[in-house]
Amino acid sequence: MQTGMNLASLLDALGVDLARHEGGDLQAVSPIDGAVMARLRADSAAATEQKIARAQAAFEAWRMVPAPRRGELVRLFGDELRAHKEELGRLVTMEAGKILQEGLGEVQEMIDICDFAVGLSRQLYGLTIASERPGHRMMETWHPLGVVGVISAFNFPVAVWSWNAALAFVCGNSVVWKPSEKTPLTAIATQALFERAMRRFGNDAPDGLSELVIGGREAGQALVDDPRVPLVSATGSTRMGKAVAQRCASRLARSILELGGNNAMIVAPSADLELATRAIVFSAAGTAGQRCTTLRRLFVHESVHEQLVPRLKKAFASLPVGNPLEAGTLVGPLVDAAAFAGMQAALSAARGQGGEVTGGERVSVPGCGDGFYVRPALAEMPAQSGIMHQETFAPILYIVRYRELSEAIAWNNAVPQGLSSSIFTNDLREAEAFLASSGSDCGIANVNIGPSGAEIGGAFGGEKETGGGRESGSDAWKAYMRRATNTINYSRALPLAQGISFDA
Ligand code: NAD
Repeated sequence: MQTGMNLASLLDALGVDLARHEGGDLQAVSPIDGAVMARLRADSAAATEQKIARAQAAFEAWRMVPAPRRGELVRLFGDELRAHKEELGRLVTMEAGKILQEGLGEVQEMIDICDFAVGLSRQLYGLTIASERPGHRMMETWHPLGVVGVISAFNFPVAVWSWNAALAFVCGNSVVWKPSEKTPLTAIATQALFERAMRRFGNDAPDGLSELVIGGREAGQALVDDPRVPLVSATGSTRMGKAVAQRCASRLARSILELGGNNAMIVAPSADLELATRAIVFSAAGTAGQRCTTLRRLFVHESVHEQLVPRLKKAFASLPVGNPLEAGTLVGPLVDAAAFAGMQAALSAARGQGGEVTGGERVSVPGCGDGFYVRPALAEMPAQSGIMHQETFAPILYIVRYRELSEAIAWNNAVPQGLSSSIFTNDLREAEAFLASSGSDCGIANVNIGPSGAEIGGAFGGEKETGGGRESGSDAWKAYMRRATNTINYSRALPLAQGISFDA
């Protein structure tokens, strides 16, 4: 593979001792050219069990460390990420196939959530609440929860863990991470950087605070079923989320679910079409359509349709598709052959439902023989038909014309998923209607920005089949703690609540 920097020296710079993990049948394959980068050992059920036990013991020590001191560990980890941004970003590109700028952006997102969590470590506030009884005080305290299980997807192989882990650590929890079986190397490298931060931090970071379980679905299930794991945060397909939700519910454990999206944009008559075009191209074709927030459905007002759609066709036709490590490439490969087959099946369904498709064909990239590269596709549809209700994890943008804003908002909401959405308009009434309670039903609703590329300061997640979870900023930290309501009686009487008299 033409990586620019050889894998061994990259892993070495990241502090990874690959020999510790090699020798099994789990293959780390690069989507760039289909080459096998490493053959790794998956953790056995017994090893997973031991890792959870270590994490449980670590939690019991870690919860006693003051939160601002816990924040210091996350600060040191953020330093490691800053120092190794180039190497980790490059490894993300090699293992997940996203372009180098996005690989680096993913590591930047990790740095940003570390900064957020450091500040948060001094702000884990509870409330005081007016008591109805004289001489009493009522308050709410937030305590560490326990072992947090994190299951992550291939397309954000390291950032998603950090959104969860940075918060979980400052909240006083330990973390057991089951990364995607498609991206084990980036997980091993991230764990190595975290261990480096732990060594710099000193003795009060207990062994087992961060554990990594390498394996497939069964390894994820072991985490989901373990009674020592009170919270499972799972990112991936809706099918996975339904399985995880049911198993967590059967033992009454908590879950945070970050599942599939099917995100739309409305382009209204007053939209700035120049801005809208740029936003559409990035949101629909960036990361080769493999973001949960990728723009998949575009509703264009009939008055601007003739101006916008030819621009999009031109932009899509000239997008540089190629090796994601090379400067100038904007669209890298799909993750594997199955993703390519899924895209082709969706395009033929779109044609069958009256769609006119441009693009979507396989692109041959010199030196990247077995990589699955495609020209991002536009599918002009007569209406929002069946195929548009599914998330196909590939760069396909369906376009439908609309007349009334109310119908476009109804279409925005008419799919099973509810992650992200946006409107391009300069009309204040339209923008507010889109954001109102009768507007977009998604967890993210934007004006004059595409649906993808969220900042870490806001809570991230979506409704309906996207799973309802929230991660990252705002008060998402509360999901990683348990709340206790405390009432303190500092009087010499014992008045009962609700005025009950119970004198024996
Ligand atoms: P996937 O569902 O195939 O796998 C995700 C993870 O779940 C992997 O680690 C996998 O091993 C594990 N897993 C699968 N079945 C499981 C089970 N029954 N029990 C426990 N663990 C199980 O998803 P993928 O192909 O890696 O990622 C793409 C999907 O992820 C898309 O649908 C995308 O929208 C979604 N995604 C969502 C978000 C979000 O924040 N909403 C972010 C990134 C990706």
